[in-house]
Amino acid sequence: MDIKEVDVLVIGAGPAGSVAAAVVHQAGFSLQVVEKEKFPRFVIGESLLPRCMDVLDDCGFLPALKKKNFQEKFGAKFIKNGMVADFNFSDQFTEGWSWTWQVTRADFDQTLITDVQERGVPVDFQTTVMRIEFMDDESSITTVKDFQGNEKKIKARFIIDASGYGRVIPRLFNLEKPSVLDSRKAIFAHVTDRNRNSFDEPNRIIIVTYAPGTWVWIIPFSSGHTSLGFVGSFDFFNSMQGNEADKFAALIQGNDYLKNRFSDAEYIFEPRKLESWSVTTDKFYGNGFVLTGNVTEFLDPVFSSGVMFATVSSHLASKLVVKKLKGEIVDWEMEYMKVVRQGVDTFRTYVTAWYDGTLDSIFFVPNKVKSIERQICSVLAGYVWDERNPFVKNHSTEIKKLAALIESHKVTADQ
Ligand SMILES: Cc1cc2nc3c(=O)[nH]c(=O)nc-3n(C[C@H](O)[C@H](O)[C@H](O)COP(=O)(O)OP(=O)(O)OC[C@H]3O[C@@H](n4cnc5c(N)ncnc54)[C@H](O)[C@@H]3O)c2cc1C
Repeated sequence: MDIKEVDVLVIGAGPAGSVAAAVVHQAGFSLQVVEKEKFPRFVIGESLLPRCMDVLDDCGFLPALKKKNFQEKFGAKFIKNGMVADFNFSDQFTEGWSWTWQVTRADFDQTLITDVQERGVPVDFQTTVMRIEFMDDESSITTVKDFQGNEKKIKARFIIDASGYGRVIPRLFNLEKPSVLDSRKAIFAHVTDRNRNSFDEPNRIIIVTYAPGTWVWIIPFSSGHTSLGFVGSFDFFNSMQGNEADKFAALIQGNDYLKNRFSDAEYIFEPRKLESWSVTTDKFYGNGFVLTGNVTEFLDPVFSSGVMFATVSSHLASKLVVKKLKGEIVDWEMEYMKVVRQGVDTFRTYVTAWYDGTLDSIFFVPNKVKSIERQICSVLAGYVWDERNPFVKNHSTEIKKLAALIESHKVTADQ
């Protein structure tokens, strides 16, 4: 069997894989991308965060993306029982991007990987990683199988595993670890949205609190279609009658805002479900490999942080791989694991505070303190490495302290 030799093997052609390929190629090293699916393929994760624009820009992806006319996204609006918290990314603490996009991922991911291919990077689609054997010198031999069943071997000096939900290396080498977050489920579809202009401007994600622990995403696209998804506990969905489509239709009717906006919606595809997505691994690196994007950890969809983490982690990891290939020493623990963990831990605090109700007190307080609102807005924009922001640096304590202060003022005002 022929063996192809490259400096870097990238597994997966999602955003994390494309970013890795762009960085390694830019640095002049040889690489091969292998992708299990035929592209374009459906994947969830449609609302981006401004922080990922820094990476897309550095990788040279913006010209190709701008041609796609994706829906611009300027903020995030949270709605609960008629109360509204509207965060505008142009009004935030951290200097950075004030906007991003809402995208159909099939188009977005196809655009990135095509751009990489046009630069000369070889990408094998419908090619699945089957086995990996690591050598003492950190190089590896990976066996891949194409859609016709042909096996091929790839020898690489380093592997960047960007296989997302495929979690290739954690699965092959038993590195999987359960998340500390509760398991949840989503039922979602793309729908027509004829009434969008009478309700909300399309240039932001709208999160509607549906019931305790259950919420809805509304992500308008530039096509006029909108991604509509319900997220909740298994118990919540199990308590409903019928199949996924029945539940989806009933959920629209169960909330006035959704009923008025989506009662006449047609489905672009029938409602689908996804469940139990939170998962992590012990270590994001090892001898001869690094994990990036969703393979490291995926928390929860509520703050749309998935693609941001995928691109930022992959960008950092690939720069470190380049450093290593140039013969320099890389401290993976300090330079990669610690950095990614800091961002993930910050968002985990906010996800936990979302589900336990702490954030409600902060989001829906009537008289917001502008400086605090701007700091929280920067977290929601994905700037979770700016330690000048107290809501990043001391995320676990600041959120609780602020919520307690707001609640104590409410008690005083009520007396
Ligand atoms: C319900 C829900 C809603 C979400 N909403 C959002 C959102 O609004 N915004 C957001 O930013 N994120 C969201 N996410 C998260 C988002 O889906 C992911 O974080 C993002 O897709 C991760 O990108 P990635 O490049 O790491 O992986 P992926 O996009 O999953 O790409 C990985 C690629 O690897 C390939 N692969 C897998 N196994 C193999 C193999 N053995 N060999 C070769 N290739 C392989 C796959 O086919 C895939 O194309 C959501 C997630 C869920 C569950």
